Amino acid sequence: LLGAIGVKIPTRRFPFAFGRLAQALAEVAQVSAYLSPPEPPAPPPLPEPSLRIEAVSPPPALVEKANLRDYAEAYRASLEDPGAFFGPFAREFIWERPWKEAYDPQSRLWFKGGRTSAAWNALERHLPERAQQVALITLDGEGRLEKWTYREVWDLSRRLGGVLKALGVRVGDRVALYLPTGAEAALSLLALARLGAVHVALPVGLGPEALRERLLQSGARLLIAADGYYRRGQLVPLRPVVEAAVSGLDLPVLWHPRGSTEFLERASEGRPVEAAPVEAQHPLFLLYTSGSTGRPKGVVHGHGGYMVGVAWALRYLFDLRPGEVFHTTADLFWVVGHSFGLYAPLLLGGTSLLVEDRPDHPSPPAFYERLGRLGVDVLLTSPTVLRALRRHGEARPTGLRLVGSVGEALAPEVWRWAQEHLAWPLDNWWQTELGAPALATPLPLPAKPGYVGVPLPGVEARVVDAEGQVLPPGAKGHLVLLRAGPAQMVDLLGGESPWQRGLYWTGDLATGDEEGYFRILGRTDEVIKVGEARLGTAEVEAAVLTHPQVAEAAAIGVPGEEGEEIAVFAVPRNKDLPQELKPLLAEKLKAHLLRHLGPVNPPRIYFVESLPRTRSGKILRRLLKAELLGLDPGDTSGLEEEYGAGKAS
Ligand code: ATP
Ligand code: MG
Repeated sequence: LLGAIGVKIPTRRFPFAFGRLAQALAEVAQVSAYLSPPEPPAPPPLPEPSLRIEAVSPPPALVEKANLRDYAEAYRASLEDPGAFFGPFAREFIWERPWKEAYDPQSRLWFKGGRTSAAWNALERHLPERAQQVALITLDGEGRLEKWTYREVWDLSRRLGGVLKALGVRVGDRVALYLPTGAEAALSLLALARLGAVHVALPVGLGPEALRERLLQSGARLLIAADGYYRRGQLVPLRPVVEAAVSGLDLPVLWHPRGSTEFLERASEGRPVEAAPVEAQHPLFLLYTSGSTGRPKGVVHGHGGYMVGVAWALRYLFDLRPGEVFHTTADLFWVVGHSFGLYAPLLLGGTSLLVEDRPDHPSPPAFYERLGRLGVDVLLTSPTVLRALRRHGEARPTGLRLVGSVGEALAPEVWRWAQEHLAWPLDNWWQTELGAPALATPLPLPAKPGYVGVPLPGVEARVVDAEGQVLPPGAKGHLVLLRAGPAQMVDLLGGESPWQRGLYWTGDLATGDEEGYFRILGRTDEVIKVGEARLGTAEVEAAVLTHPQVAEAAAIGVPGEEGEEIAVFAVPRNKDLPQELKPLLAEKLKAHLLRHLGPVNPPRIYFVESLPRTRSGKILRRLLKAELLGLDPGDTSGLEEEYGAGKAS
């Protein structure tokens, strides 16, 4: 029982041939870890998190070649004169008419008076130099890999535009999509953008009522739908869902029958349409938020500012160079997919890899192998995917240069895992409403694991109290923005504007440090009030994840005797953890948490096989809370269908 006598088994460092043996030894060590003597009494609480995080410098090889040379200078210039800062970059794109004002602080609109087209800039602009370069690589759920050159994407999307025009789609019309990630979806988005129509991508898997509600709310006049999609290798039929959703509505459906090339054949027969330049703030798309906190909100983004904002982020934050391959594991029908699966890579003349099925399907090694084989340079994924890969264990060399993480807080443990096994991690914080990253740690800045980073050019952020008073470094409060970058939304449907009292209220809980780095601690409405302390869910979860036996964790606050108690839902790293070992592990976790969190009441620990998530991969804590307390969970239309009733034990 090597673990019990304190011998650490460095399984990851075992040569590949010894993998099995290492695995077996590790299992012995794991089991014995539960049997080891109780932990010593809790030492005094650790100092404020900002003081214990050590900055890590990016590898010099990355810094030397980074597109962003001097963050501080860029940031200063962007605040002093946003127009003068983003203007030259925006001029790399084609504008039918130049803007009058790069940024109008009153209306918060960018490039007012300018006329352009995101589709034009994504395709036509590259034809002279990149017609034969691959724009998209698609891997569908049946394993079919296809490469599409800029010329092909341009040609097919303008012909599909012709088909849509013949179906009556006009400038400003909203068209809904219910298509999985793939060529058909990408071409449809580009065809609609080309017409000046507004695409409304809806997540596949959404149930009939939720689909119908969004179709009605968005006022869509056409629906482009697939009759099935693949999840973990299985074809999930969609036709019944779509038929139920549109029944009785005057809404035509353009079908993409899976397993046939009918959709693309039909597209290729269309009469090509030229791109219609539109006003900079003319809507490009309407997209719903993830619904983590309640009912999803409909966010509208325009052509001009959005185009400039996402392309800037891809070049200067994700550091992509022309001709390189970018891949995001986010589905095309989320904002990460819109911005970085489609628009930004094409706007910059890059290549984007689009994959229909889950990244770790059929297995994590297959994922690593694919990244290497297809030459992916930069990956943008989520903490959920990183945690799943980490749980699996050893990673294989992938050739990645950078790995971005977005969507949830990236716990320091997971940051370190990604740095050691994948590539230099780039945590980045933003929202559907913002269109592109707002806080991040761009090269050449050092990273502080657990801290997402600093405001990017064009963005001003603060931590404030409920009255909007700025709080000192180290204090927890509301993350607000004083201004946002060019990719911010132009309109919002079915929700209150986040701009209140002159500030953009993000809804997130954060703290800042002396050097201007921000740490996201969770959502303000999920804060756990234990005694005098206010704990963010991400703080507790990061502490749980430092325990080697935990793969995933969600923390919520539940009513206790005095104030709230912390309840932790933990997914053990060992999938087959014997029932009789659970109480022991729970005790260890409690002690572990008390050491990390200081003097709070012992948290309640529940072991679960999986956590409920939104379809975009975020932990749905409000559902755990509702299940535990027997309350109404509210709108769960965004719930990932794979979630079984979170069997707690
Ligand atoms: P809804 O607004 O409907 O409740 P949502 O806020 O989850 O859903 P999104 O716009 O997809 O919808 O997600 C934005 C949110 O995701 C942020 O407000 C933040 O809570 C979280 N988030 C995104 N990136 C990060 C990050 N790097 N670190 C911590 N949290 C993040
Ligand atoms: Mg939100």
